Amino acid sequence: MMQYNFMVKPASSACDLKCKYCFYDDISDRREVKTHGNMSELTRTKLIERLTSLDDNSVINIAFQGGEQTLVGLPFFEGFVLEMEEKKKKTK
Ligand code: SF4
Repeated sequence: MMQYNFMVKPASSACDLKCKYCFYDDISDRREVKTHGNMSELTRTKLIERLTSLDDNSVINIAFQGGEQTLVGLPFFEGFVLEMEEKKKKTK
């Protein structure tokens, strides 16, 4: 059985709270484009298609990280779970 670990950053570096310990604000300040905004539904769908195309016996761990990942909003995560469940049903 394979195990896959994914880190998903759905809100890019949009956070502006400027916590003292935040590494991401500093790093994103040095980029040509500071933030690429929220992950689009199309990108989310493509990611889910890739995840659900993995071997059925594999374990998939998904960690959402930021910046502050909740900036993308609850509907993004609700849609993510729903879409994962729908795709998994179709692949069985
Ligand atoms: S991304 Fe997290 S650690 Fe960084 S400023 Fe925002 S809340 Fe603070």
